[in-house]
Amino acid sequence: MLNPSSAPVANSTTSFWRTTTHRLDRHRSTPDLPTESDIVIIGAGFAGASLAHFLLKDNPSPPSVTILEAREACSGATARNGGHLKPDVYFNIPKLIKKFGARAAAEVAAFESSQVLAVKELVEQEKIDCDFVLTRACDVILEEKLARETEQAFRELVQSGEANLRDVHFTPRRDAERVSGVKGALNCFTFTAGHIWPYKMVMHLLDGAVKKGANLQTMTPVTRVSDAPDSEGRWILSTERGTIKARKVLFATNAYTSHLATQFTNHIIPVRGICSRIVVPEGKPAPFLSQTYSIRHGDALYDYLIPRPDGSIIVGGAKPPFWSDSSHWYGVTDDSKLIEPAKPWFDGLMQRTFIGWEESGAYTDKVWTGIMGYSSDYMPYVGNIPGKQNQMILGGFSGHGMPLILLCAKAIADMVRRGTSFEDTGVPSVFKVTEARLASTRNEVLEGIQKQNGESKL
Ligand SMILES: Cc1cc2nc3c(=O)[nH]c(=O)nc-3n(C[C@H](O)[C@H](O)[C@H](O)COP(=O)(O)OP(=O)(O)OC[C@H]3O[C@@H](n4cnc5c(N)ncnc54)[C@H](O)[C@@H]3O)c2cc1C
Repeated sequence: MLNPSSAPVANSTTSFWRTTTHRLDRHRSTPDLPTESDIVIIGAGFAGASLAHFLLKDNPSPPSVTILEAREACSGATARNGGHLKPDVYFNIPKLIKKFGARAAAEVAAFESSQVLAVKELVEQEKIDCDFVLTRACDVILEEKLARETEQAFRELVQSGEANLRDVHFTPRRDAERVSGVKGALNCFTFTAGHIWPYKMVMHLLDGAVKKGANLQTMTPVTRVSDAPDSEGRWILSTERGTIKARKVLFATNAYTSHLATQFTNHIIPVRGICSRIVVPEGKPAPFLSQTYSIRHGDALYDYLIPRPDGSIIVGGAKPPFWSDSSHWYGVTDDSKLIEPAKPWFDGLMQRTFIGWEESGAYTDKVWTGIMGYSSDYMPYVGNIPGKQNQMILGGFSGHGMPLILLCAKAIADMVRRGTSFEDTGVPSVFKVTEARLASTRNEVLEGIQKQNGESKL
């Protein structure tokens, strides 16, 4: 059993995305906290910022919205990730079919897939300067058993007709190295994906929300949410700067959710990840990489690479050197430190991985860590929290929030603004927060660790 998460730590490592900060980075709209607010959003990452955006967008009678953020604006996982907007359209679908049935699995895949274009549209409509690129993701498999199993599962999925695979292109062993450009590729899959500068996108959304009246209070950790509402139905949120009453509380606290909402303690698990930026010295030979990559070294062992418009490459994952020792990542909330065994992994990674990059001189420019919120059944939690009237959550993205958050936030805003029922929002049914999910003692993240360590039972 885990303990509730701690609050975000101070002095987090600095990610590439946060090397230049926005003027609202440490913003406080008012010197003091408002004493009350119709809606309080806790957390100013992609989830919190999107919630504020949709709550206030084209709203002729906007509610009062306060955003409380423990550290700087967008300083959590969103500002530390790969910026990879990569839907899962085939890889985990067979597992989802087994778990939830074909219909629910297809629903999840279609929902994820639709977010790539939803983010593109948002960026275009709002004119967000965030280096958005629409591209193909290329999943490359380097390990024999995984390559065999993935190909077989894919062929069965095609045969069954249970998922929409029109956008997925499979390349078998014969051509995999040439199509992917990756040495030793045993097969590969490509499909539509995107990438962005996540901090810039989120800060743009926060800026827009603040201009529409949201009160943003950074450097303001919430230390407690009252167990029950007061006589007027308002929740009381405590901070070191005083309390604030809220008619509605939206948890956008992802990895740290159980610090305040302890019913999520064994359901949203903090997981530390590591990411880097690799740079090529000018004039050195480095073949152009037009797609993003996931390089799979084995079950749960992968790197992901995002070649950026500036020629640098964001590389995350680095799982092989540290994943087998879960003390580096499971239940870890400290992003002020690197994952030591993973640090050297990035050096020479481009040269080791890509054909023609041997003499590129590519070197590691920056390494940082961040805390993801893994959900114990790998599905996010979206919507009303059972037993807590007027509390809602958008969290538990299992290291995969970029192709999930935007439309889930829109759905929650629809529920709040228009009284739309969860079932009518278009969010996959398996994302709903149910009493059964919260009562479940199953922890698939832990099961994965035990499988990896060769243990048969929990
Ligand atoms: C290293 C790394 C690489 C990743 N790569 C990718 C990727 O390439 N693609 C992808 O899809 N996903 C990736 N992810 C996951 C992705 O970043 C997350 O799913 C997503 O950013 C979650 O957004 P969020 O707003 O829910 O959480 P966050 O961005 O973490 O925001 C939560 C916010 O809540 C605040 N908060 C928490 N507790 C409190 C409190 N008590 N009071 C006030 N504020 C509080 C935090 O300070 C934080 O700012 C990665 C994550 C990491 C760490």
